[in-house]
Amino acid sequence: MTRGAGFVWDPRIATHVYRDDHPLKPKRLIAVHDTLKRLGAFERPGSTVLTPRAATRGEIERIHAPDYVEAVMRASVDPDLDYSEWGLDPYRDTPPFKGMHEVSLLTTGGSLVALEAALEGEMRVVVNFSGGLHHAMRRRASGFCIYNDPAIVCGLLADKGMRVAYVDIDAHHGDGVQAAFYETDRVLTISLHETGRVLFPGTGFADERGRGAGAGYSINVELPPNTDGAAYVRAFDAVVPPLLERYRPDVLVTQQGIDSHFDDPLTHLMVSTQAREHVVRYFVSTKWPWAAMGGGGYSLDAVRRAWSMEFLVMQGAPIPPELHDADPPEWTGSRRAAIDAAVDAAITGALDAAWT
Ligand SMILES: [Zn+2]
Repeated sequence: MTRGAGFVWDPRIATHVYRDDHPLKPKRLIAVHDTLKRLGAFERPGSTVLTPRAATRGEIERIHAPDYVEAVMRASVDPDLDYSEWGLDPYRDTPPFKGMHEVSLLTTGGSLVALEAALEGEMRVVVNFSGGLHHAMRRRASGFCIYNDPAIVCGLLADKGMRVAYVDIDAHHGDGVQAAFYETDRVLTISLHETGRVLFPGTGFADERGRGAGAGYSINVELPPNTDGAAYVRAFDAVVPPLLERYRPDVLVTQQGIDSHFDDPLTHLMVSTQAREHVVRYFVSTKWPWAAMGGGGYSLDAVRRAWSMEFLVMQGAPIPPELHDADPPEWTGSRRAAIDAAVDAAITGALDAAWT
């Protein structure tokens, strides 16, 4: 049973350029939007397209320090000065660029619109694929992320007295969101990602389980490189549904980076669109209000197909075969056994870290 789904959209969140050679290309969202439009998704009953608003300074400062926000505002006007102390470097992951503050207010505001509409309860889910910028820290840009919209959303929900479950299925550890809620049990963070031994940001090990009141409420499933769809689904099913049922949140927030796909040039996970469909169908089947965000995704074709498919799943619509991987990789033999053993260890590590 679904009640329709909302899609946050505005061409302004899909036209900025970090740097010409930068792997994060916001224009990827135009292909998602155009595919869904061609498939008639926005004409389906219950389907709504929502316009993002600019996040307010107060909302941004729920997570970020005022001096950092001011540095981003200066960089937005004059990107040629030196902002390296704030994690902004023209030659590295997160370059300053003209207008970066304004467009980041809009991508963050898109997630706030998703949250607000999800709480109203008219729709099963609202998704802002331009958000999910989970690496930004309190006083530092990181990993293509300027303002941490998922952390802002989770923080504002916790401030309302709600218990928040945050599930991050990006290939990279959701380090900025984990850091923001490391000492509280009001936000449960679960991140499934390629192990930090191999991949940026080099964190997200099972023993990072939270501190003080937050002990056991930061959950990390550290997957080996080359985890395929079958192993990924097994890890997800073993960890996420049981912990969410145990936690009993008031609201679900998901970060759905698709850089875990086997075609992605930046990571070594081998997740298929079929595995992602399984995961998103689980989210749809839960009973909590749900705000969804995007995240990483650097194979433009995988982004287009997977996120289009995921929105159709959210709508309860049929999935055209053209959106799925034709022949997803799956390990056999001794490689299968090795991946399964490493994934078993990741599952055990995550479950053992959880609060009881
Ligand atoms: Zn990522």
